[in-house]
Amino acid sequence: MKRYDFIKNSLLLSLGACVMRINDLKKITDEMPVTPKMPVLFLGHGSPMNAIEENEFVAGFRNIAQTLPKPTAILCISAHWYINKTAVTAMEMPKQIYDFGGFPKALYDVKYPALGSLLLANETKNTVKKVEVQLDETWGLDHGAWTVIKHLYPNADVPVVQMSIDYTKDAQFHFDLAKDLQALRSKGILIIGSGNIIHNLGLVDFYNLDKDNYGYDWAIESRAIMNQLIEKGDFKSLIQYNTLGKSVQLAIPTAEHYLPMIYSLGLKEENETLNLFNDKLLGGSLSMTSFKIG
Ligand code: ZN
Repeated sequence: MKRYDFIKNSLLLSLGACVMRINDLKKITDEMPVTPKMPVLFLGHGSPMNAIEENEFVAGFRNIAQTLPKPTAILCISAHWYINKTAVTAMEMPKQIYDFGGFPKALYDVKYPALGSLLLANETKNTVKKVEVQLDETWGLDHGAWTVIKHLYPNADVPVVQMSIDYTKDAQFHFDLAKDLQALRSKGILIIGSGNIIHNLGLVDFYNLDKDNYGYDWAIESRAIMNQLIEKGDFKSLIQYNTLGKSVQLAIPTAEHYLPMIYSLGLKEENETLNLFNDKLLGGSLSMTSFKIG
């Protein structure tokens, strides 16, 4: 090989390598491209039977989905993954978890084969500064996620990652942690908190589950108190929910169904709108109240 050809070939090779590196870099940024800021949801999920029943609440989920840009993936904070750390599901194909008992076979037959996203799991881990987020390979999609996301995206064509709620931490911690997730909204990620603001299972009036907007007096009162605080943006009071009086204490006997809402509120920016929907009481001691931010 002539010396000239050798230099030419070497130059071409290094140029090639350089183009490849640029392409690799482009691929990485392309994978989570910058998008207009996605809205945030809080969904009152209620009974797992909502997965297969037709009612005004699932119609509400479908309707809200119509108002959303199609996300590239979903990050769901479900009441039903309540453990002693903050983790994200990090698997390509999360298993569907039927984490309930005593329901008809038809509910166990529901398949919601949404993919996971290692990319989003890693991105969440890297984005959160407040705490070390663990990559989890054991959980999957629990009913707090699939029974509602099924109505938003019935074709299961949006990947879903779940983030756990650390039960050793207080509401202020979760509110602050949510702020770290803000950047994901500009990468096409739809963040969903899934729980129930009023959730006292021990007091449910199972004989009156079909009665429209039926709540005990304390449930009516606590909904009024909390909705007012949500709508006027007094999140500080909602974080200190233990100080809101007897009716709110009855509404939140344990925190796991309430904290997903705290995540959603933590993502609201000052100038954003918040709209309630499915705002009804159910069975005396539950609320299906949901909202969309942005
Ligand atoms: Zn639940």
